Amino acid sequence: MANVLVVAEQRDGAVKRVSMEAIAAVRSVADVSGGAVHVLVVGPPATATDDLTGSGADTVFRALGDEAALYQADLYAATAAARAEASDAALVLVAATALGKDLAPRIAARLGCGLVADVSTLERSDDGLVATRAVYSAKAMMTVRLTGRRSVVSVRPNAFTPLERGDAPSVEDMALASVSARARTVRVEQPEQAALDVAEASVVVSGGRGLKEPAHFALVEELAAALGGAVGASRAVVDAGWRPHAEQVGQTGKTVSPSLYVAVGISGAVQHLAGMRTSQVIVAINKDKDAPIFKVADYGIVGDLFEIVPRLTEEIRTIKEQ
Ligand code: FAD
Repeated sequence: MANVLVVAEQRDGAVKRVSMEAIAAVRSVADVSGGAVHVLVVGPPATATDDLTGSGADTVFRALGDEAALYQADLYAATAAARAEASDAALVLVAATALGKDLAPRIAARLGCGLVADVSTLERSDDGLVATRAVYSAKAMMTVRLTGRRSVVSVRPNAFTPLERGDAPSVEDMALASVSARARTVRVEQPEQAALDVAEASVVVSGGRGLKEPAHFALVEELAAALGGAVGASRAVVDAGWRPHAEQVGQTGKTVSPSLYVAVGISGAVQHLAGMRTSQVIVAINKDKDAPIFKVADYGIVGDLFEIVPRLTEEIRTIKEQ
């Protein structure tokens, strides 16, 4: 097989963990087929690529410049497509983050190839590469065989574990593509409190209407902090104005796939399950033993969240201090 190109994602000049996950997704495929793993980092001049040491990358290409300080769709896509051509990449990987969901189809369109979005497994079989992705609100898994000469694949955050190989990639600088952009990002406004993004966190604690009022969300925040995770929310509480939309998990919110998902006072409506049922371990706390959330939960606690959550938080803090 030819080479593989991973288009890394950086924020404020630091390469994000999802990029290491994308490299991990494809490293074993490249090992078997004898191709090299090339990684492209597009960003501001001060972008650090040291974190890619030991990630499984063979060569890191840095396309840095002031004009790439903010995500510019045309510039990033054209630079990635040019790198894919130069690397003779049979496979181009992008993380299925908010940015990646915008970027991946643009790269595919420029390369004139297909896109498989949001995959959670990627394996080599006798007749090529096979990816799986959740469909129908994650009620079923679809198997997709990549048959084209080249494909773009976006990988779901938290579906792959970053490697720790210890070897340093070679680093090369390359020019940003020259494009006449049809749109330009001029400013990015950060939320007042820079919270951990629920879609990328490996632990998510979500709260629902069972919390009764917004102030009680402190219980969810404390449990999330004890676990080192992000706070999520059901649509009911987002619609009520208790929490920002950025935290909403579900069909009309974000899709999350953390290693641990804790649902506090959430009934488990099908639209909520659509956004979290592929989580690796699901814990549900609900006073109604028949709540649908228990059908997808690995561990269920039937009881009053106002008694259970503070005790759970306390226990986790005690264990972590030991
Ligand atoms: P409820 O359904 O009211 O559940 C509250 C739960 O808290 C109950 O199970 C109750 O037993 C429990 N509870 C109450 N008190 C306590 C206590 N003291 N201790 C323990 N448990 C307690 N929803 C989403 O979440 N995300 C989406 O993206 C989304 N998209 C939608 C899109 C469409 C088109 C539609 C129609 C709906 C969508 N919804 C979505 C809404 C969804 O159908 C549900 O209405 C919503 O998820 C319910 O939120 P909830 O579980 O917080 O509230």
